Amino acid sequence: MKNAEMTCLIIKPDGVGKGLAGKIIDRFETEGFQLMAMRMIRPTQSLMEGFYAEHKGKPFLPAFLEFVVSGPLVVCVWKGMDVIVRVRQIIGSTDSQKAAPGTLRRVWGTDQRRNLVHASDSGSSAQREIEYFFSPEELSDYQPNAWKQAEEIVLC
Ligand code: ADP
Ligand code: MG
Repeated sequence: MKNAEMTCLIIKPDGVGKGLAGKIIDRFETEGFQLMAMRMIRPTQSLMEGFYAEHKGKPFLPAFLEFVVSGPLVVCVWKGMDVIVRVRQIIGSTDSQKAAPGTLRRVWGTDQRRNLVHASDSGSSAQREIEYFFSPEELSDYQPNAWKQAEEIVLC
């Protein structure tokens, strides 16, 4: 894919707990983004402290960390044209109550803290976040149409 970027998307414990993982993934597949990696994890406090290091010292962090380790996360990598900015548009702004109508956080999020998903906010954060969870071999770069070659095999 020419000029394709990658972004890191995390379904937070509220998204998994509400049974919305499939609907969230469906939204990005429908948009035409390519799923490159996905893993369900049970995060530790130190794992998420490291992930959210940019927010160290902010007043909201302790309560937020408690929430984000309260259940499993689904961490995924999506590839596509302008995927970083487009995924941020699709999820909406941080406060679920103030996010634009139709965005994932507005539709399914609860508030500023329990806002359903994380998505990388720049090229440099995407690279750091993808490397935080996945080794290069775990990113499946594939041709979406490769499965069609199987049609050429004559069934017998
Ligand atoms: P975003 O996820 O939109 O990039 P930030 O990077 O600013 O937002 O914050 C990381 C996460 O911390 C947010 O997604 C949200 O869950 C939580 N958070 C941010 N600001 C607040 C706040 N003022 N009160 C409670 N939780 C917050
Ligand atoms: Mg952020």
